[in-house]
Amino acid sequence: MRFNELNLSQEILNAVDELGFSEMTEIQEKSIPLLLQGHDVVGRSNTGTGKTAAFGIPAVESINDSNKNAVTVLILCPTRELALQAHGEIKKFAHFKRIVRPCAVYGGASMEKQIFELKRGANIVIGTPGRVMDHIRRRTLKLENLRCVILDEADEMLNMGFREDIESILSGVPEDRQTVLFSATMPKEIMAITEKFQRDPVHVKIKSAQKTVDLIEQYYFEVAMGRKTDALRLLLKAYSPSSCMVFCNTRAMVDQLTEELQKHGFRAAGLHGDMKQAQRTQVMNSFKNKACEILVATDVAARGIDVSGIDTVFNYDLPQDNEYYIHRIGRTGRAGKTGTAYTLISGRKQFHELRDISKYINAEITELPLPDKEGILAMRQEAMIRDITSIEAHHSAYSAIDRLASMGIDAREAAARLIDRIIQEDIDSIPEFERAHPLKNRRGSSAKTVKIDINIGRNRRIAPNFILGALVDATGMSGKDFGKIDIFDDHTTVEVPASDTDYIIESTNPMKINGQQVTVKLCTGTSSRGHYSRPRPKDKPVFDRRKAAYGSRNKSEVYKDYIPNRKKRTKKRH
Ligand code: ADP
Ligand code: MG
Repeated sequence: MRFNELNLSQEILNAVDELGFSEMTEIQEKSIPLLLQGHDVVGRSNTGTGKTAAFGIPAVESINDSNKNAVTVLILCPTRELALQAHGEIKKFAHFKRIVRPCAVYGGASMEKQIFELKRGANIVIGTPGRVMDHIRRRTLKLENLRCVILDEADEMLNMGFREDIESILSGVPEDRQTVLFSATMPKEIMAITEKFQRDPVHVKIKSAQKTVDLIEQYYFEVAMGRKTDALRLLLKAYSPSSCMVFCNTRAMVDQLTEELQKHGFRAAGLHGDMKQAQRTQVMNSFKNKACEILVATDVAARGIDVSGIDTVFNYDLPQDNEYYIHRIGRTGRAGKTGTAYTLISGRKQFHELRDISKYINAEITELPLPDKEGILAMRQEAMIRDITSIEAHHSAYSAIDRLASMGIDAREAAARLIDRIIQEDIDSIPEFERAHPLKNRRGSSAKTVKIDINIGRNRRIAPNFILGALVDATGMSGKDFGKIDIFDDHTTVEVPASDTDYIIESTNPMKINGQQVTVKLCTGTSSRGHYSRPRPKDKPVFDRRKAAYGSRNKSEVYKDYIPNRKKRTKKRH
């Protein structure tokens, strides 16, 4: 359905036209008519589906000569960036409707300036809950004439601890107002707000919630522990994205990674909640105008950010929540464009987490090997060819070519040398990766190990292969991942990779060995320095798998029955 099929004013239709919108997105088609009629609405749809216009257009439309002198619409957003973004978008919808005065209020910026703007007669206020509360307390924001409250990204606002502020704002505004709530997810807390503050809300849900995700190609790379930064550098060189986002889970990681990338000559900038507002705005602007190509960000700082032309998203850390994965990769492939998302994983635990994500979003995330230097060379050449076809040379360059020709170097030779040199410089700075499968290679001499303790032992006639079989079964790990097994009278210890401890403990409780329920714990007081750091107990027999009496010293041979083919497992879900 097109915008001009709706009963919208000419001013708005002109503005929409100017923005280049013609067809409505699904959420717009479903919610704009309801909002224009004054219904309370609960809208559920993913990022990138056009929610801002879905509520922004009716908001602008609702301003008229009789209500223009008071704050009529209040829009709450989780972050300053989102408030600014919605503010910018609403200004565009109001371009031809001069009586609309939108005003953004958010923390970390001058109170005076906002007060000035509010006093000048704002009628649509877009703000973060904390700052909105501030203005209400100071009586610089008066909501007696409010007709409509909109909660954008409501789930995220709750995640960020704005629940009290939101409840207090909603309790203090006129009762006969319209209440609109948009959220990607519908946890219980949101339902509670809906019940308490909305009147007969109409639920609007996008059928194809994964629509945006479908347009995004998704891949993952397995990277050895501690080598994610190197792998990212390699991938950035290989794919040379023109505009990409890299997601980390913590502010500290954002800072560290940004610094590391900058050190290696990448135009990268970090974005997170600890930064001053001016700094954040500056970062966003340089990313938008492509002065910086790589934006490293936390989930919250990046939530809902709408920058067009992001072609690639990297998940440096796996997201802590499946929904976040959708939000992250939704930064690319906006409004019908395609994009690519790459996820870096290290260790078995992350492999399993990623498998869960893949199931959750019901989409394939395909494993790719890290490209090698030859592969990167080929990709760089491709990129260079694309570049060369799209640029023009300055005049003086031709005279250089002429001079070279007079020296016996023709244009073909000159261009080849130039391409080689530019690409080679890049290639030389790329970190080395061995081709071997990193996860399978992990138990080298430097791999840290710890011991786990299982409360079953010799008095239950337990043999090492029972233990190993059960562990492999419960964890899906390879038999090679487990080290020495010591069986005592009433318990057993097993060496495991330190990095997988949490995952192993989690997936082995409960677990049965030889039909008996056992408990698996981390051994206390175990040194994590490696295989031989702890003296063997002299009075107890020791079963060392490498010396176990199975006629072979090759553990993988002895236990191969227990080693599941991980590749096969991966394939299953495809
Ligand atoms: P959301 O809030 O759901 O994440 P946005 O409102 O930020 O999504 O919109 C995502 C992008 O899609 C924006 O760049 C916006 O300008 C664009 N967009 C929204 N509606 C339309 C439309 N009807 N036609 C074309 N582009 C649209
Ligand atoms: Mg939005």
